Amino acid sequence: MTTPSYEIALAIENLTVSFDGFKAVDDLNFYVQKNELRAVIGPNGAGKTTVLDLICGKTKATAGTIRFNGVELTALSEHKIVQAGVGRKFQNPSIYENLSVMENLEISFPRGRGVMGSLLFERTADVVDRIHEVLDTIFLSDHLHTQAGLLSHGQKQWLEIGMLMIQDPELLMLDEPVAGMSVSEREKTADLLKRISKGRSVIVIEHDMEFVKRIAHKVTVLHQGKMLAEGDMDSVQSNPKVIEVYLGH
Ligand code: ADP
Ligand code: MG
Repeated sequence: MTTPSYEIALAIENLTVSFDGFKAVDDLNFYVQKNELRAVIGPNGAGKTTVLDLICGKTKATAGTIRFNGVELTALSEHKIVQAGVGRKFQNPSIYENLSVMENLEISFPRGRGVMGSLLFERTADVVDRIHEVLDTIFLSDHLHTQAGLLSHGQKQWLEIGMLMIQDPELLMLDEPVAGMSVSEREKTADLLKRISKGRSVIVIEHDMEFVKRIAHKVTVLHQGKMLAEGDMDSVQSNPKVIEVYLGH
């Protein structure tokens, strides 16, 4: 017997959340593989952000299951979900503007176990190595000591991605990461996401179709809390239902 070359990391089944009777997510089934970079698109109000809120535990499901590497996330607190390997970037960067780039990355390092002298030194060396690796990935190696508040909008977004990368999540979720970025920043972000999707799963919500085309392995289209279409970019772009509710506008 041969083992399939893919492996499901995230399995969402029959997921529903209702807000005062309004179903923002409605009986959704959604699967993401390891090493996959999935784009989620759809009109405003489709439920895209709410799906991320449900995965990271910010919003509690009304019904359904969210299994990540076999662990049921709907029963866990937000903190435990982070510990299970889920990292999530919100639309507005939540960085510490008064701290340097380096300090922002330092404080994102997962808190260790008990602090003992010898272990502390070892961990510090690890921390520094990891920070330099991440700085390189997010194009900020030359801005180690720059105050985060002085970075460009795009650089702030990269810094927040870096703060998540420090924790080395197995699932990274990003909500509209290139909104407000210049064309060249978008191109660099596409490269960045392609690189960091190796060895983990990435879910990106984005409206910029050029960007989605550049990065996504597979695209999921949400509409009224349900899946409208799913497949490669070409099949989704030529799908009449998708054109009607989203791309045609
Ligand atoms: P998208 O990200 O696709 O634009 P959202 O997931 O933000 O859409 O929202 C989907 C729908 O759910 C919207 O109609 C929104 O107003 C509603 N909604 C989202 N969160 C809440 C909440 N906490 N309480 C009430 N309604 C909400
Ligand atoms: Mg949204």
